[in-house]
Amino acid sequence: MSDITVIGTGYVGLVTGACFADLGNHVTCVDINPTVIDRLRRGEMTIYEPGLDDLVERNAHAGRLAFTSSYDEGLARADFAFVAVDTPPGTEGEADLASVRRAAESIAHSMRGPLIVVNKSTVPIGTGDLVAGIIQRTNGSVPFGVASNPEFLREGSAVNDFLHPDRIVIGASDPAVAEKVRGLYATLDCPILITDLNTAELIKYASNAFLATRISFINEIAAICAAYGVDVKTVSRGMGLDKRIGVSTLEAGLGYGGSCFPKDIQALEHMAAIQGLHPELLRAVMEINRDQRRLVVQRLRDIFGSLDGRHIAVLGLSFKPNTDDVREAPALAVIRLLQAEGARVRAYDPVAVPAAQRLVSNVEFADSAYAAAAGCDALVVATEWNEFRQLDLGRLRESLRCPVVIDGRNIYDPTDMARLGFIYRGIGRGYDPIDQALIQSTTLAAL
Ligand code: NAD
Repeated sequence: MSDITVIGTGYVGLVTGACFADLGNHVTCVDINPTVIDRLRRGEMTIYEPGLDDLVERNAHAGRLAFTSSYDEGLARADFAFVAVDTPPGTEGEADLASVRRAAESIAHSMRGPLIVVNKSTVPIGTGDLVAGIIQRTNGSVPFGVASNPEFLREGSAVNDFLHPDRIVIGASDPAVAEKVRGLYATLDCPILITDLNTAELIKYASNAFLATRISFINEIAAICAAYGVDVKTVSRGMGLDKRIGVSTLEAGLGYGGSCFPKDIQALEHMAAIQGLHPELLRAVMEINRDQRRLVVQRLRDIFGSLDGRHIAVLGLSFKPNTDDVREAPALAVIRLLQAEGARVRAYDPVAVPAAQRLVSNVEFADSAYAAAAGCDALVVATEWNEFRQLDLGRLRESLRCPVVIDGRNIYDPTDMARLGFIYRGIGRGYDPIDQALIQSTTLAAL
């Protein structure tokens, strides 16, 4: 069993700390935000993540998980310090490493005995060396090693992803350091890939960029589906059954969001560009993603003409289901676009309303999907929470003033929706009458 300190107690840090504690280690989570630490000490959860509250409570109660805002206290007995601080986008799209630098300096000031510093934050190539340099300059008298151990968990299934990963990547220049970090994961049943620091750092960016590329790819296919009257869901399934392709992240919709994909693709593009490369594919991925959000407004304009004064209900605010994280959420982008067209927005989300309230204004928040829909001219599904799949669609139709549904996540069946009397538009479902007219005229012209 090891003594582990986790620096940064956000989505990654809290999950990492609780899971390492659950594996039997003694863990202290450090955060510079005193409110976060106070709440966690009181047994309150600071983020919504399924299963995390039980894990935190059980391990805190067993004395294996503690919280502090003091680096001295947190590092007093540490064998490992995992850095899980934020790496937001900088002004040029690069990853802003201010929190990582500050964490490295604080670790260096407070470490007392030999320590392995492990980067879990998503950081650009070269950051492992940067952290090693900061520690060496600040406190060269205490022996230390640096490793990169990028995190691949997904919000919404983070605890399960941490404890049942597809793989673990550990980068280090010293094989002994890598072996010690590998030891922490010895009880998990998955391949462990040991690399150098730079390779581990790039594996994380390349993985996220590939997943984002799949999403933009299927969204481009969805646009072709809409033009030719084909249902993208069937196309996805037909593609995904090929084992070389697979079904995951092949769902057309409003595009990717969240605190990772948008900033990580941008940061990778920046890393390539400053080397004089031309990362055209990454640029196209980002451009397609931006266009997806505009589709909702376009679909509504096709139906209503002007949206000025229209009341629109938006279901879902978080960037994906099962999380309260609204960072870069497509729903918020859609809300702002609707407001720019003069529409009035009423929104509902099962958990993300408090987080969203800080980022959008002039939005009315409802406490159920039906309350959001009541009297509205149209309803937009922006996040595919399971509870939206199970709505009483007859009741929903009764609630709306006009039976218009723009399904930004393709959760409903177009045939069912038409049968229930909705004017329904999904993303690439082949039901757009304007596109149908276009395809007919194109086909006739070709004959
Ligand atoms: P977050 O913003 O939720 O949490 C970061 C925490 O670090 C905050 O609580 C902040 O107060 C704290 N912090 C900042 N500077 C600090 C310092 N100097 N000392 C101590 N604490 C400090 O971020 P997150 O979503 O957990 O992401 C953390 C990192 O993990 C990022 O690099 C992200 O790209 C990466 N990542 C995130 C996910 C995800 O799904 N959220 C998945 C994989 C990787």
